[in-house]
Amino acid sequence: MSQPELLLFDTMARELRPFNSIQANKVGLYACGPTVYDYAHAGNLRTYLFVDVLRRALEINGYEVNHVMNITDVGHLVSDADTGEDKMEKGARKQNKSAWEIAQFFEQAFFDDLKLLNISTPSVICRATEHIQDQINFIQELETKGFTYQTSDGVYFNTDRLADYGKLARLDKQGLEAGIRVEMAEKKHPTDFALWKFSGDKPRQMEWQSPWGIGFPGWHIECSAMAEKYLGDVFDIHVGGEDHIPVHHTNEIAQCQAKNGHVQANYWLHGYFLQLKKEKISKSGTSLRLDALIAKGYEPMAYRYLTLTSHYRSHLSFTWEGLSGAQKALHRLRNKVAFLPSNGKVDESYSELFMRHINRDLNMPQALALVWEILNSELLPENKRATVLFFDRILGLDIHKIETVEIPEHISRLVKLRTQVKQQGNYKKADAIRNQIHDLGYQVNDSGDGSTVTIRS
Ligand code: AMP
Ligand code: ZN
Repeated sequence: MSQPELLLFDTMARELRPFNSIQANKVGLYACGPTVYDYAHAGNLRTYLFVDVLRRALEINGYEVNHVMNITDVGHLVSDADTGEDKMEKGARKQNKSAWEIAQFFEQAFFDDLKLLNISTPSVICRATEHIQDQINFIQELETKGFTYQTSDGVYFNTDRLADYGKLARLDKQGLEAGIRVEMAEKKHPTDFALWKFSGDKPRQMEWQSPWGIGFPGWHIECSAMAEKYLGDVFDIHVGGEDHIPVHHTNEIAQCQAKNGHVQANYWLHGYFLQLKKEKISKSGTSLRLDALIAKGYEPMAYRYLTLTSHYRSHLSFTWEGLSGAQKALHRLRNKVAFLPSNGKVDESYSELFMRHINRDLNMPQALALVWEILNSELLPENKRATVLFFDRILGLDIHKIETVEIPEHISRLVKLRTQVKQQGNYKKADAIRNQIHDLGYQVNDSGDGSTVTIRS
């Protein structure tokens, strides 16, 4: 099979670029991880599903992926302007637990969600609180190079010292200086950001000694320090949600450029948001948590299917109808595949087409459409199965899983009636009932020891 070239949309270049790794057959991938002060919501999970598909796509292209993900368990302030409370301390207060307990609990809940969604575990998981010294060292280097200044509440990065600050987001720094009213406090420029915050006179649960005074690190410095520790000062891909473009990734880049003289990643990829009637989804709302979806009778994998129906660079509008449709489609898919014989061969030309969709910036909607096209094609049934299951290495839908569907009462009654009339020898009536069941969306499968019913494929 000839492999089509892998193209990825790089936010920095604002265009599709052929992917070339630094080391042959190896990829260093840094994905910004969760802030563990509450449960993840479906939006957050959409971003991790995107990262998972990216990782699987790289793997199927023959790369060994060193996937590093941080856990933000300190330092993410409520406001992007470096004011307000630390989200962890706030979460702890709200739940009447210690910040450490909160972090541990929600980190576990996050990994439970990833498992339910069949998301591969990162190769390295690193917590901000376990890398305080690395962050202090990083800040000290920035200080030596003259990129920092101190105020009464912390140590700040001076964005004025970098000529191309904000290039990832195409930030208009001059416009920002003149126009937007940002909470400045003692900051010299609106875009300056905290590297280290002092505890001050407010009691804190998470705080450390530093050369500048007792306090805690800023949010951006944790990613710069840990990415460099585990992937080196230049690595292949950095990913996160689209909200990271103007602040978090912009500031990560500024720190690395200031310290090392270059941008740390060769490709910057961003997953667009899941939206709820065009509104922002917040962690404080509980309705879009994975456990809430499960409680409403949805399989976690139905949500995975739903996210595959839209491109990662499009907003996805969440609706319950959409999720129901995804669940039905997934069940239909599994049912179809379950009835196909094994021992087939992966079809070369369909695989090439599939890889073309994947390698054109992860076009999952088209890849998914191709799955259905194959199932309705003239391919040999066993080859259909082999090909679709090969595709599932990227889709990650567990298509081979045998579907156990609940048959509604009115259908069970019809099946019983059909068995009775068949036993009485009335085959014409039995066939008519079979057709009726078929029209209602189900399929009777007769076997030696009785009839079983599945959703019609
Ligand atoms: P947080 O736990 O708040 O740090 O966010 C974890 C990840 O979820 C980040 O990569 C965010 O960019 C991403 N994210 C936040 N809200 C959404 C959303 N509505 N849709 C998709 N991704 C999101
Ligand atoms: Zn980050």
